Amino acid sequence: MTETPTLATRLARAIAVAGPMSLGQFMAAANEAYYGSRDPLGAGGDFITAPEISQMFGEIIGLWGADAAQRHGWVNAAYVELGPGRGTLAVDALRAMARAHFTPSAVHFVETSPVLRAAQAAHFPDALWHKDVNTLPTNCPLIIIANEFFDALPIQQAIKGAEGWHRRLVTSMGAADAPLFVPLAGALIPDAVVPETLRDAPAGSIIESSPASLGIGQALAARLCAQGGALLVIDYGYEGPVVGETLQALKGHNFANPFENVGDQDLTAHVDFATLAQAIAAVGGEALTIAPLATQGAWLAAHGLGARAAALMQSARARDRDDQAIAIAEAHTRLTAPEQMGSLFKVLEVVVK
Ligand code: SAH
Repeated sequence: MTETPTLATRLARAIAVAGPMSLGQFMAAANEAYYGSRDPLGAGGDFITAPEISQMFGEIIGLWGADAAQRHGWVNAAYVELGPGRGTLAVDALRAMARAHFTPSAVHFVETSPVLRAAQAAHFPDALWHKDVNTLPTNCPLIIIANEFFDALPIQQAIKGAEGWHRRLVTSMGAADAPLFVPLAGALIPDAVVPETLRDAPAGSIIESSPASLGIGQALAARLCAQGGALLVIDYGYEGPVVGETLQALKGHNFANPFENVGDQDLTAHVDFATLAQAIAAVGGEALTIAPLATQGAWLAAHGLGARAAALMQSARARDRDDQAIAIAEAHTRLTAPEQMGSLFKVLEVVVK
């Protein structure tokens, strides 16, 4: 009996036949295999996320969603989460929403991983799952949350050479059963598709873009305009366009070579929030309020994290659980301190006027 070839072998064979593939294709295939085969979160996994650090994160987001729905009178709004992981953020957000007297009409999850869908179903047996945003309901306002979702979507890169900008491709060397993947400069791309401010960058410069992310942002913007609702994107990122490579791999909480361990480590890129916001504005026009980009630390503070942490600490101490009070203080610091998650992580908030 022949063994099923590994993803690396299948990609190497595809490259042998069709030539080098785009970085986006490589990243999409690697992440689909990665997320599809495991729960990557937590101490025993490859990385940890804000909702897994503290219940306060999802609670604050839930209060934000309830407030948006109540102010606009969206009584039948649905809760939508993109890439909900274990469902932890949704559990905390929906509990906080209920306390604020807002109950979404339904819970919709956009999730491709069967393993994580099962983890989400354990908390939300009645949720509805989608493989992409196109099948989300069309008949109600949507409160849409995406924490560490956009960073997992495929990116493209271009690299500056002597004659201009080249699309970056991925090729393989070595035997198909033990391939070595390497990036390579492909054909020249027209200068016109490179952001004007970056065109004259020195040779060797790398720029990134994520057409997949922009497409999803624009699809969601169109939905918000047509149906009402709000969108909150939280992720690590920057305000582009800028020169620089952010593609990275995480394995066992350590950085790894993105071209090794294909499908067995998390591939991400930082999110270009300025370009994402521009793409959303291009669709939403005057119908949407796009708040100035905030850091996670500032956004959480402005939405009451300090008060929530104080209340939880007080209740822990009242139960003689000083250990818990300390853990809450530590989580607060981890989520908001500039040298931890507070500055690198950004919050993009879009609400229908
Ligand atoms: N939001 C969660 C999990 C972040 S990990 C948290 O903060 O803990 C990224 C999540 O996005 C996972 O649930 C993963 O399965 C999902 N995901 C990754 N790529 C996806 C894609 N192309 N379509 C839908 N979901 C995707």
